[in-house]
Amino acid sequence: MTSTENDCLFCKIADEQLPADVVYKDDLVVAFRDVNPQAPTHILVIPREHISYAADLSDSHSALLSRMFKTANKIASDENISEEGYRMVINNGKGAGQTVFHLHLHLLGGRPMNWPPG
Ligand code: 5GP
Ligand code: ZN
Repeated sequence: MTSTENDCLFCKIADEQLPADVVYKDDLVVAFRDVNPQAPTHILVIPREHISYAADLSDSHSALLSRMFKTANKIASDENISEEGYRMVINNGKGAGQTVFHLHLHLLGGRPMNWPPG
C-alpha cells in the first residue's frame, strides 16, 4: 500500500490531487517535469511512497530504487539526451539544497553540465 503524508506536495502530485506535467507513472514511481527547470530536460522521479530523505532508504527499498533509476534512464532515452549524457541528482537535507522533503531524483540534461556542482 502507498503511504502518503498530509501536506506533502509530492504525495499530492503522486495522488493526482495537484496537477503536474507527468511523463511516466507506474505502481511504484511517478515522473513529472520540474516547475522551475534548470536544464532543457529537468524531470523529477519520485516514489509513490512517502520517504522524506535519501538517508532514510534501507534494503527494503531496493526494488523501488532500481525502478527510480530505470525510469530516469528510460525517460532520458525518450528525451533524446542519452547519447550526450545526463545527470541524476538527489539532494539530501537542507544544506545540500533539498527544499521538498519527499525523495526525488532529478534528471537533468540537454546542456553541458559543470563539475563540481554549485
Ligand atoms: P530539491 O531542491 O528539494 O532537490 O528539489 C525540489 C524541486 O521541486 C525543485 O527543483 C523545484 O523546482 C521543484 N518543485 C517545487 N514545487 C514544485 C511543484 O509544485 N511542481 C513541480 N513540478 N515541481 C516543483
Ligand atoms: Zn510525500
